[in-house]
Amino acid sequence: MENVVAKVLPNSIAEEVGIEAGDKLISINEQEVKDILDYKFLISDEVIILEIEKNNEEIWEIEIEKEYDEDLGVEFKKSIMDEAKSCHNKCIFCFIDQLPKGMRESLYFKDDDSRLSFLQGNFVTLTNLKDEDLERIIKYKISPINVSVHTTNPELRKKMLNNRFAGNVYERLKKLTHGGITINCQIVLCPEINDGEELIKTVEDLYKLYPLVKNIAVVPVGITKYREGLCNLKLFNKESALKQLYNISKLQNKYISEIGTPFVRLSDEFYLIAGKDIPGSEFYEEFDQIEDGVGMIRMFRDNIDRKLNNINNNKKGSFSIITGKSAFKEVSSACNKVKSVNPNININVFKILNKFFGEDITVAGLITGEDIKNQVDKNMLGDYIIISKNMLRTGENIFLDDITIQQLEEYFNKKILTCEYSGEDLIEIINSYSEEEK
Ligand code: SF4
Repeated sequence: MENVVAKVLPNSIAEEVGIEAGDKLISINEQEVKDILDYKFLISDEVIILEIEKNNEEIWEIEIEKEYDEDLGVEFKKSIMDEAKSCHNKCIFCFIDQLPKGMRESLYFKDDDSRLSFLQGNFVTLTNLKDEDLERIIKYKISPINVSVHTTNPELRKKMLNNRFAGNVYERLKKLTHGGITINCQIVLCPEINDGEELIKTVEDLYKLYPLVKNIAVVPVGITKYREGLCNLKLFNKESALKQLYNISKLQNKYISEIGTPFVRLSDEFYLIAGKDIPGSEFYEEFDQIEDGVGMIRMFRDNIDRKLNNINNNKKGSFSIITGKSAFKEVSSACNKVKSVNPNININVFKILNKFFGEDITVAGLITGEDIKNQVDKNMLGDYIIISKNMLRTGENIFLDDITIQQLEEYFNKKILTCEYSGEDLIEIINSYSEEEK
């Protein structure tokens, strides 16, 4: 248990009552705080009594009156105040099992913790939860939760997750939804394993739990070149991707007419592989599944079109954008639009092939520093290099292969700018780093 306060937010209740970094939270209303779920539940009251151990080992009892849902304004050293639960599965498509040896230790940690799902949006399989954990989620109203379902077929799920306890996901989802918990579902789709009829059945099963099962994102399996000793998996090709689009579009049309939403959506990659254009923005509604790559291209394209008139006409600049194979066409098309508004903005786009994980990995987020170094011609670079923020480890300026932004800047002797690729921020960066024409 890690109940040590790391930070007290300015002007918060915690600051007002004298809580400081380094203090230990012992109990709330005389109840032990085992983890973040206990904490969130116990502070949801108008009057609470905190027992705090100060740095000098003094024990303080603090009574607080507040609004029911008002937060205290403390952050703990560990976000879940406990060790993260590791996963008990060995999924046939697990990306962590397909990492090369010798990468940073933390990259190999397989978490499967519903508390992280609630706090950070991680997907969980529900396989390592006891019944009492499910009851605690319901009692504490831990909602929404993101669940990796993959299939509702019990035998197939056991096989896909390599876990004999993985078959009861549908019962668990039923229990959670009956308890009022909202769930976003994800399906990693593997050709000839859980696609086709299996996928249709899974989606139809989950639809029975709508609206508490709020939506389903379907993403294609990713395969690296490090699969030695792992089972054979296929990738989607044009034909098999088209088949899924066809099957799913029939369900989407049915759901739109019944409940006004497509309910299930395929990630952008399916459309790219199938050579089909992606749907319009109304199809993606609030873009809730953007983290799964569902609707990213649509959002980027629409934002570029909307913000194109903001491109400063009397400026000039030169940029190089680095991206992966999947996004190359879309990013190039956006750059052509920018150039058509202001021809004095010069942008070239570099398509990086993923030599580190293998060329079947085409997304920008898994490009490494070494691949950029080896594939970008120094002589072709503009004044600034633009990369996607998701190539870097969360909150750090380091690529997955431990090369830092600074090392790459020194290597190319250029400033590197990072961008979320919402479309809007790309236009902003281009405007900010262009210069007035003399
Ligand atoms: S749940 Fe499956 S995919 Fe996720 S980390 Fe565990 S083995 Fe890997």
